[in-house]
Amino acid sequence: MLKSKLPRVGTTIFTHMSALAADCGALNLSQGFPDFDAPAALREALGRHAMAGHNQYAPMAGVLDLREQIAAHCDRYRQVSCDPETEITVVPGATEGIFCAVMATVHPGDEVLVFDPCYDSYEPAIELAGGRAIHIPMTAGNFGIDWERVESGITPRTRLVMINSPHNPSGSILAQEDLHRLEDLAERHDLLVISDEVYEHLVFDGRQHHSVLQFPALRARSFALFSFGKTFSVTGWKTGFCIAPPALTAELRKVHQFVSFVAVTPVQLALADFMREQPDYPATLAGYYQAKRDLFCGALRNSRFEVRPSAGTYFQLLDYSAFDSTPDKELCERWTRERGIASIPVSVFYRDPPPQSYLRFCFAKSDEVLLQAAEVLCAI
Ligand code: GLN
Repeated sequence: MLKSKLPRVGTTIFTHMSALAADCGALNLSQGFPDFDAPAALREALGRHAMAGHNQYAPMAGVLDLREQIAAHCDRYRQVSCDPETEITVVPGATEGIFCAVMATVHPGDEVLVFDPCYDSYEPAIELAGGRAIHIPMTAGNFGIDWERVESGITPRTRLVMINSPHNPSGSILAQEDLHRLEDLAERHDLLVISDEVYEHLVFDGRQHHSVLQFPALRARSFALFSFGKTFSVTGWKTGFCIAPPALTAELRKVHQFVSFVAVTPVQLALADFMREQPDYPATLAGYYQAKRDLFCGALRNSRFEVRPSAGTYFQLLDYSAFDSTPDKELCERWTRERGIASIPVSVFYRDPPPQSYLRFCFAKSDEVLLQAAEVLCAI
């Protein structure tokens, strides 16, 4: 009989909740994806490249024109230079890039530090590599990192730290000081870092995103992952990129070439055109999504939920502990079926869930849907 390599893993919460929302005809604020379309110029470029016959394999590391645009983007937004030939790899989604980075670095018996609530794809990748995830809870209430606690979780087997800022599901972001602490720790204990920065442009209220790329000692030992799905509202195009120093990139590519080999050619060409023609587009996202966050949070002013506006991402947590003690998974399903609104229960992202009761709502939705959702929530 087949012995499962992932005995504790089922279907992801995102797939489950989106399917349940569809079955129930509920407003779907669960899985993170926009309900509006990507810029027309980007979609037209895809059609153009497909019709022009650019439909065969791209180079393994990605279309060079796109890697050059990524280098320009990195220079523009992070003031960091990256070599398109040796440091940038286009991947079919950040999920694949993260998986390949874990496979390339984690040996059987290695320990990997992750922070709970932790994005769902990290631990299965660590387990498939034969490693062990060491879960460190984020601080209660503000979802920060307690670096003393991180230090005490390090052993001679610790190989890698996985961070995610802006953070899904909490919407918190790491401060410059956090990255300095990580830099110090990673150097002293000779650790590698995987930095999931897929929401890099979604930071609010004038805050700054701090990338590992901007901290020299982290730049030298990190894989930084990004997703075009978030930045250009094309989650279904499943395309992202990884930036890492040449030696790390070489190892990542060894895995990437046998997991998927390449990302989709006409998609890469379309993204390259759009990035060249509209380099300022990512800078418009923070204001756009902040207005959506404010609309949603503002409309919940008279609800019974505790609302702390997100610092980043397109997710908003709502705390219902003041008026209901039902476990979040149960409540989430009940509200999808009975109230017609779907969200994501936050406890599923913890190894040992704390008593807080949070649901995550995606606000990458039309204003009408956000107001409708708030109306339902205000009636609860
Ligand atoms: N990252 C998306 C979210 O958090 C989901 C992606 C997926 O379904 N795997 O909702």
